[in-house]
Amino acid sequence: MHKITLIAGDGIGPSIAEVTVRVIEASGVKIEWDRVDAGLTAIDKYKDPLPPHVIESIKKTKIALKGPLTTPVGSGFRSVNVALRKEFDLYANVRPTKSFEGVPSRYSDIDLVIIRENTEGLYTGIEHFIGANEDIAEMVGIVTRTGSQRVAEYAFEFAWKQGRKKVTIVHKANILKYTQGLFLKVAHEVAARYPEIDVNDRIIDNTAMQLVINPHQYDVIVTTNLFGDILSDLASGLVGGLGLAPGANIGFETAIFEAVHGSAPDIAGKNIANPCALILAGVAMLRHIGEVEAAGRIETAVSAVLKEGKAVTADLKKQGAVGTSEMGEAIIAKL
Ligand code: ATP
Repeated sequence: MHKITLIAGDGIGPSIAEVTVRVIEASGVKIEWDRVDAGLTAIDKYKDPLPPHVIESIKKTKIALKGPLTTPVGSGFRSVNVALRKEFDLYANVRPTKSFEGVPSRYSDIDLVIIRENTEGLYTGIEHFIGANEDIAEMVGIVTRTGSQRVAEYAFEFAWKQGRKKVTIVHKANILKYTQGLFLKVAHEVAARYPEIDVNDRIIDNTAMQLVINPHQYDVIVTTNLFGDILSDLASGLVGGLGLAPGANIGFETAIFEAVHGSAPDIAGKNIANPCALILAGVAMLRHIGEVEAAGRIETAVSAVLKEGKAVTADLKKQGAVGTSEMGEAIIAKL
């Protein structure tokens, strides 16, 4: 029996989390879920988007499955997602992009993984106005040797373990010579310890263009926080959108699995959200806890439902789409 923290999340979160739990349970893996609230639901209940008992739960279980969380803009509340990454030092954000047969998209046979530095860069949140008029704003980007080294090590180790052939280091060291230069230098130092893996480096703007023109040239990409965030959304758009994009936040002791997409308030409460991103995050979570066989079966079931294209949600087909829970049922039926 595994003990895992479950945060259903805001907006479409509760409905896709419910479907994900049912799919995982149908695979036969035994999990005792510690269900806790964060985000808007927790603000309503506890006046705190990240109550201490949520942190305590994750400290105990070391693993969480998390639906999307909303931080109200301008509310003064801290971003729960950023707070969780900091609290558990979740330094690597792993975002795979994979083509599924049957899903309308620009390309087929894409299978790449973006590994994003998750704790520093331009997302440190250190920013302020200069002067009383609020006409000038300044932000601080932090890049450290430690931060760069651990994410590069994670990326090369990941590539090596998964039998992948190539790692591309993505940066902007031509302009940002110190911060991006440090990241590039340290990533190459790590690369030198993995002679069996091809390495190249590429500037972020060129990478974005090349991803659109020929995504098949990429295998594993490792990059800094902001670039990784943007590139992974771009990559998900190449294979059918955010509804199929899972993510994992990895630390030395703790890991939190989630969908790349947000809480999608525009479609919340309508039973139309695609549950697959969170289900695939659940698949990555099962692999992480050693339930490799069940993870494979769930992934195969999701692929089969997508390939048939009958019981899929409205983001994947215009007419005759089914609801979130019906797509979940179709996946369970394949299991
Ligand atoms: P955030 O700032 O939290 O990322 P957002 O509203 O900017 O939130 P998303 O919530 O990711 O971004 O939504 C972006 C668009 O993608 C919305 O139109 C949303 O309806 C759509 N979308 C996101 N997730 C899904 C999903 N699982 N199924 C279908 N459509 C989705």
